[in-house]
Amino acid sequence: MRKHTGNLQCLQRFLLVALALAFSGSASAQTVDTNAVLASIDQKAASYRDVALKLWSWAEVGYQEKQSSELLQAQLQAAGFTMAGGVGERPTAFTATWGSGKPVIGIIGEFDALPGLSQAAEPNRKAVVENGAGHGCGHHLFGTASTAAAIAVKEWLAANKRGGTIRFYGTPAEEGGGGKVYMLRAGLFDDVDAVVTMHPGDRNAASASSNLANISGKFRFRGVSAHAAGAPHRGRSALDGVEAMNAMVNLMREHVPSDTRIHYVITNGGSAPNVVPDFAEAYYYARHNDMRVLDGIWERIVNAARGAALGTDTRMELEVTNAVWNVLPNSYLVDLMQQNLRKVGGYEYTPVGRQFAETIRKTLEGELPPIDSTNSVFAPEPGVGNASTDLGDVSWRVPTVQLSAATWVPGTPAHSWQAVAAGGTSIGIKGMMVAAKSMSLMAIELFTEPAHLVKAREEFDKRRGPNFKYTSRTADRKPPLDYRK
Ligand SMILES: [Zn+2]
Ligand SMILES: [Zn+2]
Repeated sequence: MRKHTGNLQCLQRFLLVALALAFSGSASAQTVDTNAVLASIDQKAASYRDVALKLWSWAEVGYQEKQSSELLQAQLQAAGFTMAGGVGERPTAFTATWGSGKPVIGIIGEFDALPGLSQAAEPNRKAVVENGAGHGCGHHLFGTASTAAAIAVKEWLAANKRGGTIRFYGTPAEEGGGGKVYMLRAGLFDDVDAVVTMHPGDRNAASASSNLANISGKFRFRGVSAHAAGAPHRGRSALDGVEAMNAMVNLMREHVPSDTRIHYVITNGGSAPNVVPDFAEAYYYARHNDMRVLDGIWERIVNAARGAALGTDTRMELEVTNAVWNVLPNSYLVDLMQQNLRKVGGYEYTPVGRQFAETIRKTLEGELPPIDSTNSVFAPEPGVGNASTDLGDVSWRVPTVQLSAATWVPGTPAHSWQAVAAGGTSIGIKGMMVAAKSMSLMAIELFTEPAHLVKAREEFDKRRGPNFKYTSRTADRKPPLDYRK
């Protein structure tokens, strides 16, 4: 009996020590050889540079990123990941998984370019291909940095014989194609505990801000054509339907929350004034920082379209073309990401890079951050950005954290020729390496310290509210694979 009690006490003590070790940041952090992780990325720097510059030169737009997707897949496959291509009904989407069991940490990479932004890696406006595409959002660096991070994490897991799963998500068509929404819909994020990702930018900082949920759709009106002078009474104008809808929506602007954004274009208003148009189409975007508020605004826009059809004796059909949630920040993960980014730090320009930066700065307007701020880490800035991204949907399904890396000359806006230009130089590549390293350390910390995932989840549940269930607003529509054709 005595002996038994002694064994029990011993076991209890052992369990307490094991628990303390598992939940003590300092104890487990000591087991991570940060320098080895960073060195493993540095060793492959030349190869990652080549990959990024290839993606940059191909500049493939949404759902047409065939070569870019294949090249990233080849890196992950060579590193021993198990590949699944063409996921979520899209040929260029893929996942790459290594390891098994919990936790499951996801790293997201994007790789689509923007139409019309072709630009040489030079500090003055010069297209490589007239009206061609260019990486104005730096997604070539995004895809490559995330690939590099996933591989570094895999190597660390293998070297340390750790359990758990690292999964890379190759997510196409971020720019308006809603690539991630279809992967969520296919259940590809269902087992993930946290997502780590980056975005190119003009500074190094963990991203603490939210942005705007966005629903977009085409309102198609159908009427009856007739001679506009000879028999107007026999016609029913589809353009009247569009105009009546727009008039009502424009009145509505006064009665929606003031931070709502509604914009439209008339993509078809008929073909000749002497023919009553039997077809007309308005293409709408509506945005707000809270999808649940936006749902109500969108419903009123749809009702305005219905009312317009009724009043003009036309018929209306709506196609919801895309819908993305606002990003749900997770300040616990933002703090952790910031700590890991600080461990990595910023970078100095090469002499050529600095000259390039000085010339680019002359083309930028407004108040600019210091030119040498690439070598520092900015504080995370909470707030609401005015863009929208399909990462928003992921962030309501899985606790998600993102960092911005200085891949562009400080002061450069996204979707600009200056962003494309810097993305093809050492500036883009150095920023990419900062992101790859920071994401690796962040993901490894999530593997070593289970308490982080518990705390991130607590905040996530609290922010989402009770009984929340993520649903896509695209319903069951097929991915718009031809939206850039
Ligand atoms: Zn973009
Ligand atoms: Zn982007």
